[in-house]
Amino acid sequence: LLLLALMATGVKAQLSNVASEIAIESKVDSVLSLMTLDEKVGQLVQYSASWDVTGPATGGNERKRENLKKGLVGSMLNVTGVKATREAQRLNMEHSRIKIPLLFGYDVIHGYKTMYPVPLGESASWDLDLMERTARAAARESAAAGIGWTFAPMVDVSRDARWGRIMEGAGEDPYLVSKIGVARVKGFQGTDYTNPTSIAACAKHFAGYGFAEAGRDYNTVNIGMNELNNTILPPFKAAADAGALTFMNSFNEIDGLPSTANPYLQRTLLKGAWNWKGLMVSDWGSISEMIPHGYAKDLKEAAYLAIQAGSDMDMEGNAYESSLAALVQEGRVDQELVDDAVRRVLRVKFQLGLFEDPYKYCDEEAEKTELYSKANQALALEAGKKSIVLLKNEGNVLPIQKSVKHIAVIGPLADDKDSPLGNWRAQAEANSAVSVLEGIKNYAGKGVKVTYAKGADLSTGDRSFLKHMTFNEDDTSGFADAVKKAKAADLVILVVGEDAFQSGEGRSQTDVGFAGVQDELIQKVYEANPNVVMVLMNGRPMDISWSAEHLPAIVDSWLLGAQHGNAVAEVLFGNYNPSGKLPVSFPRNVGQEPLYYNQKSTGRPSEIAEVTYSHYIDSRRDALYPFGFGLSYTTFTYSDVTLSADSFQKGGAITASVTVTNTGKVAGEEVVQLYVRDLFASLTRPIKELKGFQKIQLKAGESKTVSFTIDEELLTFYTAKQRWEAEPGDFKLMISGDSSGMPETLFTLKN
Ligand code: BGC
Repeated sequence: LLLLALMATGVKAQLSNVASEIAIESKVDSVLSLMTLDEKVGQLVQYSASWDVTGPATGGNERKRENLKKGLVGSMLNVTGVKATREAQRLNMEHSRIKIPLLFGYDVIHGYKTMYPVPLGESASWDLDLMERTARAAARESAAAGIGWTFAPMVDVSRDARWGRIMEGAGEDPYLVSKIGVARVKGFQGTDYTNPTSIAACAKHFAGYGFAEAGRDYNTVNIGMNELNNTILPPFKAAADAGALTFMNSFNEIDGLPSTANPYLQRTLLKGAWNWKGLMVSDWGSISEMIPHGYAKDLKEAAYLAIQAGSDMDMEGNAYESSLAALVQEGRVDQELVDDAVRRVLRVKFQLGLFEDPYKYCDEEAEKTELYSKANQALALEAGKKSIVLLKNEGNVLPIQKSVKHIAVIGPLADDKDSPLGNWRAQAEANSAVSVLEGIKNYAGKGVKVTYAKGADLSTGDRSFLKHMTFNEDDTSGFADAVKKAKAADLVILVVGEDAFQSGEGRSQTDVGFAGVQDELIQKVYEANPNVVMVLMNGRPMDISWSAEHLPAIVDSWLLGAQHGNAVAEVLFGNYNPSGKLPVSFPRNVGQEPLYYNQKSTGRPSEIAEVTYSHYIDSRRDALYPFGFGLSYTTFTYSDVTLSADSFQKGGAITASVTVTNTGKVAGEEVVQLYVRDLFASLTRPIKELKGFQKIQLKAGESKTVSFTIDEELLTFYTAKQRWEAEPGDFKLMISGDSSGMPETLFTLKN
């Protein structure tokens, strides 16, 4: 009976969703029928708030302000705060003929005021529920400040540590990126979009942006259909299926065709085969950028190519605003194409409930209580500690022993209160994070002496967008103090890595080692006192080979947001047993990049690192720390991998199980990972692919059986026949705590 009742509730919910969808479609149609061509084009225009919208327009923005009043703007980005949002909305609602509410967008990437870990760092938690909750909290904060649309999550699979935006994604694996992308979409959007805390999510950048050649941002992408469909697109498909209300296309070209003008991606796949009804916004000026790409000779041509291909809204590109109406009037662009784009804009606005209340996100009271709330700070601490990855812990230096009475905290980033906020820091106050030094002072017991030496500066001078960064390459005057303090201490906490502005958009690097004089500092400190715990701060996988060889302990803390230092201290002092696992491979040197675990076999095979034809003569070819890797203060063993049967028919399934035992002395969490290899296929397949994971908790001595269902869907890929299907044949699987082994357990999919 209960089941029937539940089913009935489910059916009822579905029916009511269908009913509301039908209602929205008819409302969209009726609004559309009232609109002039200029007003329609206006809905496809997005302006950045390049002036203070609460006052008169300055600096050439008079046109923008006037167009707001005429109802010729669909959306704005970078308007912040309820006061400004209310004013911009008022200009539009009170003056325009058509009175279609504006939608306000912003890059709420990992927080709005309260920063959570940078997305790559948080992905190391492999905790989908946590990531949904931080996205929800970020949505609540930004919604309370007027924002109804975030340009997140970035679901670009990225495998090149040189690419600065690797920090903004969920790493190198399509399966993990898909799961995390979905969690974030759900978090931002909530279940009821009309709720004032729900904001539209945006899956970006469609597509291929993470595959920029040589890791140089915006660079050319050369990939084939196999890579596109099997590696890059799955997270976008997952986001579309999860109901992401919007997508953003990308700056890059793929094989000669700018994504913004790519009809296969936007029309054939996304809006066609995937039947996605959402809104596609261009990236900032990516329509007009087709001119420098050498693909469109002027703005008008760029507008033509973009609308044909399915780009609905022009972010700050001035292409649609200047040319789209004329293109329709001249008969070059079919009115129906514009109508379809406008429908998509209106649909999102209806879905969010903006027509019912254009000031839905303008709640001065919520703005006061929600921003920097205690609950958000607590969540930032939880997310911070769960994102930390313990990379090395020789001789159990960690957690810090009670016998340690004197700790020296050393390094250019040790007391940095700004870098933990990351580069996409939205409206966070500068220098507002808890530094590692502060965290250690907060958590060290009374009898423990804590000293500090910066050692050296990391970067100096201008760190703004599109500038070369200047690193401190020669000032070592602080070394003596660092060495003295290291010598005097029982234990050194060495905080090094990257500052906030070394990763992010336009922040590609040719070297992923330690910038400036940090290498020298690390060595000097280690010589003075070998009892060193390195706390790495980073937005990308780094080359830390020397430290990995010499230092006894390494903790990867990424850029953890507001509570960085407290989160690190919780782990160092053993209040929290680290459970993070790398979402990206750490290289031995930059020359290995792009480096990822799910490579193909070559015709000169050997999957082991040491002996193989396809190798380097000056370096091992495998990762220093592989994808999925991370230690704990306890140890886990895996035993008894069993299959419920060694073959199954299409449409059927088998279960793979493993026993995981906590063989150490403390409770801990483990991410149990399932990898599968398709042995022979119509296209060559990776030597292993993540196909499932579960994060489990085990008390000391406890064992648990973890099971995964293996079905046709799990074995599906984009085949040589250019369709998604599972091909019958032999497969191997591995269930493990990281990606380093090779699948061994054989099973067969039968026709
Ligand atoms: C970035 C996007 C971002 C947009 C708006 C662009 O430069 O590539 O990811 O959402 O700016 O700020």
